[in-house]
Amino acid sequence: MKSAIVIGAGLGGLAVACRLAKMGLAVTIFEKNELVGGKVNLVEAAGYKFDTGASLLTMRHVLEDLFNFCSRHIEDYLELVELDPICRYFWSDGTVFDASRNLEKTEAEIRKLNPKDVSAFRAYLSDAKQKYEIAERTFLAKSLNELPEILTKFDGEFLKNLRDLLRLSSLRTLDAHNSKFFSSPKLRQLFNRFATYNGSSPYEIPATFALIPYVEFGLGAWYVKGGIYEIPKSLARLASELGVRIFSGVEVDKIIIKNQKAVGVQIGEESFGADFIISNADAVETYRRLLGVENKFVRRQPSCSGFVILLGVKKQFPKLAHHNIFFSDDYKAEFDAIFKQTKLAQNPTIYVCATSRTDATQAPPNCENLFILVNAPYLTDKVDWEKEGKDYRNLIIRKLEDSGLEGLEESIEFEKIITPLDFARDTNANRGSIYGISSNGIFSAFLRVPNKCREFENLYFVGGAAHPGGGIPLVLLSAKMVADTIIKNL
Ligand SMILES: Cc1cc2nc3c(=O)[nH]c(=O)nc-3n(C[C@H](O)[C@H](O)[C@H](O)COP(=O)(O)OP(=O)(O)OC[C@H]3O[C@@H](n4cnc5c(N)ncnc54)[C@H](O)[C@@H]3O)c2cc1C
Repeated sequence: MKSAIVIGAGLGGLAVACRLAKMGLAVTIFEKNELVGGKVNLVEAAGYKFDTGASLLTMRHVLEDLFNFCSRHIEDYLELVELDPICRYFWSDGTVFDASRNLEKTEAEIRKLNPKDVSAFRAYLSDAKQKYEIAERTFLAKSLNELPEILTKFDGEFLKNLRDLLRLSSLRTLDAHNSKFFSSPKLRQLFNRFATYNGSSPYEIPATFALIPYVEFGLGAWYVKGGIYEIPKSLARLASELGVRIFSGVEVDKIIIKNQKAVGVQIGEESFGADFIISNADAVETYRRLLGVENKFVRRQPSCSGFVILLGVKKQFPKLAHHNIFFSDDYKAEFDAIFKQTKLAQNPTIYVCATSRTDATQAPPNCENLFILVNAPYLTDKVDWEKEGKDYRNLIIRKLEDSGLEGLEESIEFEKIITPLDFARDTNANRGSIYGISSNGIFSAFLRVPNKCREFENLYFVGGAAHPGGGIPLVLLSAKMVADTIIKNL
């Protein structure tokens, strides 16, 4: 029986372990933290439950596919709830906009902003759908190791692949693309926001990523009853059922290489051998810490990080939906601060997730559990989080109070702050980035770490810093690519 060691029990590590175990490999996971889940994690305190990382599930079919592959029904593990509205958007002039998968409802909201943009929305979504479908059969289906092959092989598929690639590529930024479609500055801002779904800037990310809105408006936005942490919990259960051994609280120190092949891992004084080593630790950090190899990926710009405030409040805010965005007045200045100056934006857009709006298990009666997230720069010496964190927290709470959450400060009965320093420390994320490598720049999508290591045999990378990128569905797809490649090579 062939064996595999997976380093890390983030979603990518758990998913690849399930797939390999289902295919008959003996799989062991070593996770440095006590809890599995990595960036999808949880805090429970004072009767409140909080997801500390991801809060939105998209492309649910990718998660379903994992359960199906393992001959299981997702319904036996998770209760998925579709959200309507998907998200409530607030602007400082008092405008409120509910985005819904029910397109008539969304069009009614758009009509209020600018009637001309209703037809633009339909055209935009149709373009987004086409982009998504191309990405689904190319970029999201193949590991980077295979992509050059499909694009340079002059077989019957070549012209189709080339056509696809040209349709998908764009020299235009997402912001320029959105400005071409929508005359309302508010709609441009709303659709620009989708760049943050992989931790990037709409002013630098190519228009290819205009496919993301289709993922929400076309395929739906989902919550998991009990909290998003139910996903890693259920995958750990599935993995155990399939015979995977999970050791938590165990940090891998080194990947052992012999004759250019990965043959095992070292943990303290002990070493453990396996036929395949799969790193779910941040791929850039895997090179740096576990292989001791400096390489070009270290120079790639990380995605943004996040500043998180978890609040248990003894009050309800009926104006909140499950997902809420309080936009800044100057989106460009905000992204310039985050990515160009790597500083804190002084008028940030604030995301508030209140799962208590949908799920009574999340907070005591008549209370809310607020997960507040502001995009923040990846770690540099420009921000001293220990010093600036408290002031930034106050600025954010004040802005929320000014935006209509009156009495927020005085109703807080539980509070926890998570800074980029915590993301770096807790999950070994490269400079605290929360989506791996950023997608800023035209070719960035093709410059992530390939799933099969090019330098060492039998070594693979799964997770947000590897292909195809960060976010729950993409990380699950990277697990599929790794498992498929291993089995193909066997
Ligand atoms: C605040 C925040 C909000 C987000 N919002 C969303 C969202 O709404 N929707 C969405 O789809 N995505 C969202 N994401 C992104 C999503 O959560 C991540 O892309 C995804 O969870 C990353 O999974 P991963 O497999 O790359 O592994 P990670 O979560 O990075 O896990 C890697 C694991 O490896 C472990 N590890 C590292 N080094 C070692 C070692 N040496 N030995 C042993 N173990 C090790 C770590 O402890 C960790 O558990 C968000 C992320 C954050 C942080």
